[in-house]
Amino acid sequence: MKILVTGGAGYIGSIVTEELIQQGDEVIVFDNLYYGHRAAVHPQAAFIEGQLSDRAAVKAVFDAHNIEAVMHFASYTLVGESMEQPFMYIGDNVTNGLNLLQEAVAHSARRFILSSTANLFDDPERMPIDEQERIVPGSPYGESKNILERMLYWLDRVYGFRYAALRYFNAAGASPSGERGEDHDPETHLIPLTLQVALGQRERLTIFGDDYPTQDGTCVRDYIHVTDLAQAHILALRALDEGSRTYNLGNGQGFSVKEVIGTCREVTGRPILAEIGPRRSGDPATLIASSEKIRRELGWKPKYPDLRTIIEHAWEWHRTHPHGYGD
Ligand code: UDP
Repeated sequence: MKILVTGGAGYIGSIVTEELIQQGDEVIVFDNLYYGHRAAVHPQAAFIEGQLSDRAAVKAVFDAHNIEAVMHFASYTLVGESMEQPFMYIGDNVTNGLNLLQEAVAHSARRFILSSTANLFDDPERMPIDEQERIVPGSPYGESKNILERMLYWLDRVYGFRYAALRYFNAAGASPSGERGEDHDPETHLIPLTLQVALGQRERLTIFGDDYPTQDGTCVRDYIHVTDLAQAHILALRALDEGSRTYNLGNGQGFSVKEVIGTCREVTGRPILAEIGPRRSGDPATLIASSEKIRRELGWKPKYPDLRTIIEHAWEWHRTHPHGYGD
């Protein structure tokens, strides 16, 4: 299939691109390189540097290529930043997605995979969180994904547009090939920050609160290996002809911040200084996904469900690329 991947120079988009190419698909990456890295793009993918806010540029991509499907990763993604800059999120994330969707519909590219988020579930009534859970966006970021999910719902109703909305929990790890991994600036995520301490690039890690109602007082999250996430995208894409769908994607297992740091110490063999600090605003105590639906419907099964393997792959990437794609 000929697939347009927006944000294909970013962490998840570049690893999905790698997997698509390994499965014989043709990929066109569209990325503005604000956060992405040219070196992250698989050499067999075509690369176009451009802005989704530039509708003419988006149209030109569809005019030039006979795109059959779109995977949309390009987005602002930081919950905290969205609380300070709501227009950047509810504005740009939504209007950029709208440009993409309008051109996709106009060019009859009627298969679409949306990278969505667990931030739709700010106040879950049940844990693990399944697809029946009521939607309560936790931030303008979460709201921007909710609006895009709603657009997709209506485009399916009106045009027979086929989509999958995949709500990620905590994507982690690196490609088992060792070639692609996390390289964010600024880095805000727990595993890369902890491994940066192991590398001596940071003195210590701050644990954001140890007074949560969890086993050891630190927040519990569901870490899913980025390659397993990538496989879920590909399975969802292949299933679209049978109908649109929405899935929550995680491991179904929760690990506390202290457990993650402990596993990082074991994997790296390094001490990793961590101190308790105040809570980070907007952090729920526990987020665990139920991925029963995608397991049942598509036979998805994570290949790397173990936290230790996830951290081993992340460590391999950070150890061999201490400056990310700058190396
Ligand atoms: N966290 C932490 N210290 C840090 C970064 C993150 O204690 O320096 C915690 C954070 O409060 C959350 C968990 O680690 O409970 C995962 O955070 P991350 O930012 O990686 O992902 P999020 O859950 O926000 O998507």
